[in-house]
Formats: sequence, C-alpha cells, structure tokens
Amino acid sequence: MRKTGEILVVGLGPGPDVWRTPEASAAIERATDLVGYEPYLARCPERPGQTRHGSDNRVELERARLAIDLARAGRIVAVVSGGDPGVFAMAAAVVEAVEADGAAGDLEVTVLPGISAMQAAAARLGAPLGHDFCAISLSDNLKPWALVEKRLRAAAEGDFVIAFYNPASKARPTRIFDAFELLCGLKAGATPVAFARAVGRPDERIVVTTLADADPSIVDMATMVIIGSSESRLIDRPGGTPWILSPRQSRGGAA
Ligand code: SAH
Repeated sequence: MRKTGEILVVGLGPGPDVWRTPEASAAIERATDLVGYEPYLARCPERPGQTRHGSDNRVELERARLAIDLARAGRIVAVVSGGDPGVFAMAAAVVEAVEADGAAGDLEVTVLPGISAMQAAAARLGAPLGHDFCAISLSDNLKPWALVEKRLRAAAEGDFVIAFYNPASKARPTRIFDAFELLCGLKAGATPVAFARAVGRPDERIVVTTLADADPSIVDMATMVIIGSSESRLIDRPGGTPWILSPRQSRGGAA
C-alpha cells in the first residue's frame, strides 16, 4: 500500500537549541504542521506556511489522533515533545493511536530522539547515573498513587538511583512530600539528593543536598529530582555545587 503521509515524533531536548539534535531541527523545519503542548511549540522557530496545532498538556491521545488525521490528508506532521519523545511523552501516545487506528501500514511514523531531562540534570551533577538507576513519574494522572508507592519501595529495595519526572504541579503540589516521606523511612539520611530545575534554561537552579536535609517545597514542574543509591556520594567542588558520584564499580549494595 502507498504511504500517504508522515508523522515525525520529535524530541526538542530539555531547552536550549544546542541540546537539540540537527535531525530534530531539520524535522521541525520540514514539517507542514506542528502538533504539541503550547510551551513546546513556542520553542520551535516560526516558519511561514507552517500550521501550528497547540493544545493543553493532558490531551495526548487527542493530539496523536489529530496527527494521524493530518498525515492521512497528506501533511508532514511533527509531533513535538520536550526532552526525549519516548520518555513520559508523545511517542507512546502516537504509537498507541496508530495501533488503534490500524494506520501502521499506510503512515510513515518516525521517532526522533532527544536529550532527556535526567541526562541534562546528570550532566550538571557529575555522575549521579553512573550505576543502575530507574526513572519514575510522580504524576498520578495516568496511574494510581498506590502504584507509585509500590515502585518507590521497589526502587529503594533494589538500591537504584532514582530520577523523578513530573515531581509536582499546581494540581499535585503534595505528592513530592509523600514520596520523600516514604523514601526517608527506607534510605539513609546521608543519601545524596539533587533538585535540578530548568536545566539548560536561563532560570536554571541546581540544589545538591541529602535526604535528611532535603526541602521538597522547592520542587515544581520544571524540576528533575535525583536521589542516590547507598553507594552514591557527594564530592565537594570548591566554588561550585557538589558532584554526586554513583561509582561504576559496586561494592555489593545495601542488600
Ligand atoms: N520527555 C521529557 C519528559 C516529560 S515529563 C524528557 O525526556 O525530558 C516533564 C518533566 O520532565 C518535568 O516535570 C520535569 O520533571 C522534567 N523536565 C523537563 N525539562 C526539564 C529541564 N530542562 N530541567 C529539569 N527537569 C526537566
């Protein structure tokens, strides 16, 4: 069957242009239509003749269906996500919608990777993800909070470094406190913790502390939280924020 249209699922990276791949930039340039959450569209340069379809954050599947309709009409559609589109972002919604629609055969769908927020944050912190780690979204919009708690316990039990995406929002200001309370009961107070806000943007702010001293009230929806394993340690850097090192070589973990 002849493919009629094209969907490019594009990762814009965490913010600055220098952290966006040339492939992603070329896709945004080439697309006839841009689909995405408004603040992500605002990060794409305006181009005459290109149509923008902005939407609210919560309507991922609707956005994916719109992309399918546009592609069916022969358009080249870039669906944009912050960071990497495969990490808590639009690739899953597009793949799900394409499957439900039976469109896999007649639409060209390509996922273009981006630097994810945890990588950007890790780069500012030395090497917090140098050993086994996991990523957990604290948003309970799409899953019950009990499942988040179960995974937090499992991550602590497995002695993983933990990266939190979506740690807080205006609608969910308190979950981050619940998560810290749970982890404080399971991990040592000296465990390194980082709050990395708006990494790569003008209002970037990095706070490095410990689980015992951490103040989750500074967390907002632009923040990535990284919590160390039992082997992660702080390394002082004169004149800079401390590094967090999770050594490649494990001593066998807390277990
Ligand atoms: N697909 C994105 C994540 C989307 S979830 C990615 O791969 O990065 C949105 C969450 O990502 C935010 O709530 C925040 O936790 C994190 N985030 C995105 N950009 C960030 C940045 N520049 N600095 C710190 N955290 C960021």
